[in-house]
Amino acid sequence: MTMTQPQPDTRSAEAGGPAPIIEAVDLVKTYDTGKVRVNALRGVNLRIYPGEMVAIMGPSGCGKTTLLNCLSGIDVIDGGRVLVEGTDISKMSDNDKTEHRARRMGFIFQFYNLLPVLSAVENVELPLLVSGVRSGEARRRAIEAMDVVHLAEWATHRPAELSGGQRQRVTIARALVNNPAIVWGDEPTGDLDSVTAAEIMDLLSRLNKEHNQTFVLVTHDRGIAQRTERIIRMQDGLIIADEQVNDGPGGDGRQPAKE
Ligand code: ADP
Ligand code: MG
Repeated sequence: MTMTQPQPDTRSAEAGGPAPIIEAVDLVKTYDTGKVRVNALRGVNLRIYPGEMVAIMGPSGCGKTTLLNCLSGIDVIDGGRVLVEGTDISKMSDNDKTEHRARRMGFIFQFYNLLPVLSAVENVELPLLVSGVRSGEARRRAIEAMDVVHLAEWATHRPAELSGGQRQRVTIARALVNNPAIVWGDEPTGDLDSVTAAEIMDLLSRLNKEHNQTFVLVTHDRGIAQRTERIIRMQDGLIIADEQVNDGPGGDGRQPAKE
């Protein structure tokens, strides 16, 4: 089926380009609540390459969050395959998936809220402590991550003492503290005014270019999407369009994004 009819893709490993960092093949996800079945993803095919900055757009309920959850291994899929850095995640144990996420992925998700009783830097170092990094080392790296988002001087403040934009930058520092290969954002600028949202996008673009990190960002905001390199549009559980909007990753002479 899809295996014998690969999508035209000049950047595939066979063509000498980099291998995808994330690949979905006929990805199906169905929610069965007992009363209703929701076909949230109805056969999604997608390849995301290292260093890409991708926006995912589409109307509410079309499956964007479900797609991020399935690609990152948070959610179990019902059909097809998801390959993360070449490994089929259905063949990984829950422990392996969790460990891989902790080491290789960062999340800027609304439901991963900052803990109000912890200071900003304590929030940022938490993922490191959870994955066994010693406290001194964790603190050092958390402060470094706070510095990247220009918040070092706010390290000891609690979330309630920070503005919305600063809080979102703490969330980003926390997503970046393990130096992940891939960062998932579900409406990362959703609650911010347009000026702050643009600042956050400047920051994410800089990280994408300087560290070659891969960003996959769900957004409603056309302006935010235009700041990425590739816009994937979803509707009703399917990808309906996938276009390059700007130069490929970094524009630094790596494989051009054009087919
Ligand atoms: P989006 O992020 O694009 O708004 P979602 O991925 O959240 O869309 O949802 C896609 C569809 O799946 C929607 O119809 C939604 O109601 C349904 N859905 C999402 N999560 C669940 C769940 N845990 N249980 C049942 N249905 C769900
Ligand atoms: Mg959503």
